[in-house]
Amino acid sequence: MHSVRIALYPGSFDPPTHGHLSIIQRGLKIFDGLTVAVLKNPAKDAVFSVEERVDLLRGALRSDQRVQVKTFSGLLVKFAQEEGVNTILRGLRAVSDFEYEFQMANMNRKLDNGIETLFMMTGEDYFYISSRFVRDVARLGGDVAGLVPPNVLEALRRKFGPPQGAQK
Ligand code: ADP
Repeated sequence: MHSVRIALYPGSFDPPTHGHLSIIQRGLKIFDGLTVAVLKNPAKDAVFSVEERVDLLRGALRSDQRVQVKTFSGLLVKFAQEEGVNTILRGLRAVSDFEYEFQMANMNRKLDNGIETLFMMTGEDYFYISSRFVRDVARLGGDVAGLVPPNVLEALRRKFGPPQGAQK
């Protein structure tokens, strides 16, 4: 019998981008469901609160039944254990992501050797998108249309105003 396979996709998602959504959509080709886990981190330069990020993710995913959005704090492996999930999904953009991801995957396996981390390569259109880049560009009045889903674009415009040089 086929058992339901769920993976945990953790991150900061401040804000969610097309890069994240691409990993989620492609992850759903491999897994029956995904739990997107938003880290409750007190980052100094955060733009959106954890609650806002959850709402933005839910809005962007248009309540796809296969995806749940939750929050967690503390150790990821502990949260995975609580959720009864043994696969962590992460995206890889560039070589620069590799060292950190490699260390984290190994550390997590050391903490719980029943947990595996699976990496998906970014789509070629998205390798340059990071939440930090989106935050910084939006803050400075640049246009991030095309990098984030429409509801995130709207939320960024509410925070920072329309991009400089925009028609309206
Ligand atoms: P960021 O690094 O953009 O601040 P997160 O901490 O929210 O993002 O990242 C969560 C996961 O999503 C990480 O595994 C990260 O590598 C991945 N990710 C983020 N942006 C992209 C992208 N453009 N393509 C593929 N994976 C991505």
